[in-house]
Amino acid sequence: MFWTLLKVLVAIVAFFCIYLAGTFVVRSFMHPPPAQPEVGRLRRVNYRYRCTVCGTEVTMTAAPEDEVPNAPRHCREDMILVVEGGEY
Ligand SMILES: [Zn+2]
Repeated sequence: MFWTLLKVLVAIVAFFCIYLAGTFVVRSFMHPPPAQPEVGRLRRVNYRYRCTVCGTEVTMTAAPEDEVPNAPRHCREDMILVVEGGEY
């Protein structure tokens, strides 16, 4: 009788260990640490670029501080600056 009780007790302890380990792993998967950009070195901008080949327009909303950002490329060509909004 004693050994049966001990076996049940060990089984319960083992179950809780596995359960806790499982929830820990699941939680670490559900809440990955968010990747933070260097906000301090970015400024809000409003540059608009247009693709000279297909006409696609994009708006750049953030750029490194004290730097005129390079024009993005589309259709393998540099896009042209349409509107330079600066900070807003
Ligand atoms: Zn294009």
